[in-house]
Amino acid sequence: MKEFAYQRATRVREALAAGRDGARYLGGGTNLVDLMKNGVEAPTRLVDVRHLPLDGVREAPDGGLVIGATTTNSDTAAHPEVRRRFPALSQALLSGASGQLRNMATVGGNLVQRTRCAYFADPSASCNKRIAGSGCAAIAGEQHNHAIFGWSEHCVATHPSDMAVAMAAFDAVVRYETLDGVGEIPLAEFYLPVGDTPQRETALPPGALITAVVLPKEAISPRSRYRKVRERASYAFATVSVAASLEVHNGLVRGVRIALGGVASRPWRARAAEAFLQDGPATADRFRAAADAELAAAEPLPGNGYKVKLAGNLIEAVLKEIHA
Ligand SMILES: Cc1cc2nc3c(=O)[nH]c(=O)nc-3n(C[C@H](O)[C@H](O)[C@H](O)COP(=O)(O)OP(=O)(O)OC[C@H]3O[C@@H](n4cnc5c(N)ncnc54)[C@H](O)[C@@H]3O)c2cc1C
Ligand code: SF4
Repeated sequence: MKEFAYQRATRVREALAAGRDGARYLGGGTNLVDLMKNGVEAPTRLVDVRHLPLDGVREAPDGGLVIGATTTNSDTAAHPEVRRRFPALSQALLSGASGQLRNMATVGGNLVQRTRCAYFADPSASCNKRIAGSGCAAIAGEQHNHAIFGWSEHCVATHPSDMAVAMAAFDAVVRYETLDGVGEIPLAEFYLPVGDTPQRETALPPGALITAVVLPKEAISPRSRYRKVRERASYAFATVSVAASLEVHNGLVRGVRIALGGVASRPWRARAAEAFLQDGPATADRFRAAADAELAAAEPLPGNGYKVKLAGNLIEAVLKEIHA
């Protein structure tokens, strides 16, 4: 590990002033420190943001929720209003990592965590995300856990966060601050398309500090669900996951939200499935057909065709579970 400076910030402006020139913000450190240990990340300075006044969940003026960026994954998952209004978010968080990790991991760090593509974490492998233009070892290598949507010839990795999948389904908005002022990015635009620049992952401006995530009132979904398929029962990243909510009145779908995890470089909002279901009958056949409509656009790699069937089955199963 290369030498680095450490600075604990207690005010946002102080953090922003220090968060430049090769510095990185330090949340729980559960991803960043691992990557520093194996040489993938080498910041000049860690700016510890956990003592900033950005902790906790509070009411948004419009009736939604504002989750501070340094709120731990455990506290977010356990918050009574998160559990009541956005249960899929609580379930997504609780499906991730372990109790110890969730006690350390923060909302800001969870959003910006890096891919779990094994070649990315191996400095001896070629990886465009780690070193732009160096190639992609996964294209001709091990790819059973890689993307089936939205990949490019330059990178086929998936985004690892469970939390972000639920937030995508709920149309969350990321709030950030820079030395020039404050800004907001809808989660749908937060993760950049892979294209030929997989090393650029988010739309955050350079040096931006995430300060909060807003969950809008319109997305309140007490009957939402998150389900995750993984290679072992706990302590594993998603092979495929689904966050969904469904509102049915008089047998007709009047509101539906579906997002997939483990299938793309960002949480994948299943817009085709949602459009298929909206205002139609809420039946098992239609749930299956909606899943098929979404998966028709999948582009599996030679090593991960199984994810197409898995994702379709999971969408259908979660919608049936909510509607039961
Ligand atoms: C063994 C293991 C298993 C795991 N399993 C899962 C799993 O199943 N599902 C899952 O979703 N995750 C899983 N994780 C990942 C875990 O959720 C992330 O490591 C964690 O959420 C990152 O949060 P952190 O606060 O520790 O981030 P850090 O490691 O501190 O930071 C991560 C990145 O975010 C940046 N950052 C931190 N805070 C901010 C901020 N406020 N503004 C801007 N940038 C910021 C940092 O500079 C860094 O680039 C696992 C991790 C481990 C080690
Ligand atoms: S899939 Fe992406 S992260 Fe993995 S080796 Fe290729 S470029 Fe790197």
